[in-house]
Amino acid sequence: MANYRLLLCCAATLSFTVPLTAQFTPAPKRVKPVHSTEAAPRPTASSNVQTEAASKTPAPPKEPPITFNSVHVDSPYIAMTFDDGPSATLTPKLLDILAAHHMKVTFFVLGEMVAEHPEILARAAQEGHEIASHSWSHPNLAKMSQESVRSQLQRTDDEIKNTTGKRPTLFRPPYGSITERQKRWIHDEFGYDIILWDVDPLDWKRPGPAVVRNRILKETRAGSIVLSHDIHPGTIEAMPSTFDELEAKGFKFVTVSELLGMATPVTPHPKAEPAEKTPAKAAPSAVPTSSPGG
Ligand SMILES: [Zn+2]
Repeated sequence: MANYRLLLCCAATLSFTVPLTAQFTPAPKRVKPVHSTEAAPRPTASSNVQTEAASKTPAPPKEPPITFNSVHVDSPYIAMTFDDGPSATLTPKLLDILAAHHMKVTFFVLGEMVAEHPEILARAAQEGHEIASHSWSHPNLAKMSQESVRSQLQRTDDEIKNTTGKRPTLFRPPYGSITERQKRWIHDEFGYDIILWDVDPLDWKRPGPAVVRNRILKETRAGSIVLSHDIHPGTIEAMPSTFDELEAKGFKFVTVSELLGMATPVTPHPKAEPAEKTPAKAAPSAVPTSSPGG
């Protein structure tokens, strides 16, 4: 809290001396993304000067990101994700569709659902899909004590391990609701990357298969993480044509961990940018960390 107040004070002081152009955002603490080129000085001298300046700049102590809304990739790969299952009837249907399309996705499962349908999760894992944690019972973590959150995550971690033989490495907070502090200790304790999304068809409102499909087709780009739920019939109904049309657009499907592994540094312009040495595996984008989805 003291640090945050200090930050606020600094920001307030700065705003008197420098015309800050950034609009107010609730969480300005993150390291500046590599793609912000506005701050770079205009190259007026020779390129020698630039490289010298770049080489003299000490490498910033940049922490690797632990939260991802999407991933910066050079190829048209995307990750489809399905939350809140496994569902007794709908998840097997989805698994059939995925098998027919020869594609792998990521399931963010609830521990209590896994306990009810372990055989469905075992099948999903056996067929090559990634299994990730979405908490035990879908609470709003941001409002919970650390001990309660830890219990939600540990029980789910154990349930997934007992069912599939593997512990998850990814976590998606229910509703996307999580504090910066929680992200950090969850990452440190469980080793999870925190996975949000950049494409949300709002399928939990059950708008009908055509709407779900059209929203996904409109918003998806290379590196997207697409949020859906395998507990809504309309979502499952939308998937065959959604997959067909995404494929027709040239997209290829991978799991979230595979997508993270494909990340390339966000350096569209090689000028005055020493960031190529940093293993920037992805670009956390500015999607709110709390939304009704997830
Ligand atoms: Zn959810």
